Amino acid sequence: MASAKVLVTHIKESDADEAITKVKKLNGKSGPFDLIIIFSKSYSELIKLNTTGLPQLLLISSDDNDNDSKSKKMSEDVTLLHNFGTYKLANNITISYLTYSSDVLQEQKKTILDKFSKLDNQVDILITEEWGLPISERSGKLSGNEVIDELANKLQARYHFAFSDEKNFFELEPFSWEGGRLSRFLNVPKYGSGKRWAYAFNISVGDNEDEEETEPPNLITNPYESVNSDRKKRPLEIETGDMVDQDRKISATGEKSEIKKMRTILPTNCHFCFSNPNLEDHMIISIGKLVYLTTAKGPLSVPKGDMDMSGHCLIIPIEHIPKLNPGGKTELAQSLLAYESSLMKMNYVKFDMCTAVFEIQSERSVHFHKQVVPIPKYLILKFRAALDRQVHFNNEKFTRNAKLEFRCYDSLSSKEYLNVVNDQANNYLQFTVYETPESNPKIFLASFNASETIDLQFGRRVLAFLLNLPRRVKWNSPTCLQTKQQESTEAEKFQKAYKDYDISLTES
Ligand SMILES: [Zn+2]
Repeated sequence: MASAKVLVTHIKESDADEAITKVKKLNGKSGPFDLIIIFSKSYSELIKLNTTGLPQLLLISSDDNDNDSKSKKMSEDVTLLHNFGTYKLANNITISYLTYSSDVLQEQKKTILDKFSKLDNQVDILITEEWGLPISERSGKLSGNEVIDELANKLQARYHFAFSDEKNFFELEPFSWEGGRLSRFLNVPKYGSGKRWAYAFNISVGDNEDEEETEPPNLITNPYESVNSDRKKRPLEIETGDMVDQDRKISATGEKSEIKKMRTILPTNCHFCFSNPNLEDHMIISIGKLVYLTTAKGPLSVPKGDMDMSGHCLIIPIEHIPKLNPGGKTELAQSLLAYESSLMKMNYVKFDMCTAVFEIQSERSVHFHKQVVPIPKYLILKFRAALDRQVHFNNEKFTRNAKLEFRCYDSLSSKEYLNVVNDQANNYLQFTVYETPESNPKIFLASFNASETIDLQFGRRVLAFLLNLPRRVKWNSPTCLQTKQQESTEAEKFQKAYKDYDISLTES
């Protein structure tokens, strides 16, 4: 995989010449760099810099007094960026920048967010003068700006550099977004602060960088998605075990006290709980006594044949439980199955589709749920092949993940199957594949230890491969995400189609 070597520095006007000499030395000693990004308050000093002998340079000025200055290419290798925007390099690295200080950010908030809202993709590097609020709070500062939060959320840059603290170097541990993309945040102080004023790193260049990057051992909870944050609605589709995954990584560093803190997600913050004020209720299809049904955020499947909606939905217990009680005979388990069965019937009778259901039973999950995806008839027989292929990837390529070995069972009442699921100590991934409403479903089940890391997107990965929708693996990709209006329309269509099958209407 190709990668680029990048240096990020912060230069103040009075020491500009001295600093650029040091940058040249660094380039000789630790480089050569493919790209050097220089941040400075002073536009007039930046354009005077003698940059001969340096590789491609991006000069970023945050001089609020120079609002008229336009970003421009000053020579083949030197580009000056100003105010805000997004810049794409020849090697496809994308850089968004927003150089305003907090006051101007507030004034220009709408213009800024409007402009960035038009961006379709995530970016590689984000350069801002200011910090985001949650990271600022976390490090005990009183600064930070919500516009930066919005941008951080939207762009999910792999590296975010800020410069407002001119005296201290700061590096936050890496964190990940729902969907698995990793981000790092740093503040680079100015040259002459006596602290680390230049930061060098390698960044991969290419399409599949997210998939390739192995997760660092010091991964922390995403500060922008912290439980205290009511700024962002948590979507319904993500697999809730993500907190769990992070536990494990923290525990590897021995910080045991952190574990407990992170594992407690209160129902008011759980994105599947009715008591969460941010519950996305415009996506709800049906509410039963113990269980409810919603459409999926960033659905995997797409309208096909007679089906004019994605058809991807979630069956969720109303109670906040990580895992079902064993036995499969509890009222809740029966109710979940009744929903599953009604959806499978609708898919088959109304839309001529088969159905695949995916679930994770783990004591380390947050709020149990089942994902239900319609599968065209001509593809359903390829399920086993799709599963085997993803198992191969999981076991051979993503070596940090628990090794998965799926066993196939012929029915939900198979004795061997019940032996596994009736044991409360077992944690497992399960697919239930329905070809027709008359035949028994095939069950594919793989056990794992609670202490192992599992790929929470595994189910989606298998089904995306089966459906030949490789670009839809991640629910939060621009390809999958829908506007609120589209989500409401999906839910309405689903509700209309499901009306004749809805078991909440007949439940006693
Ligand atoms: Zn919950």
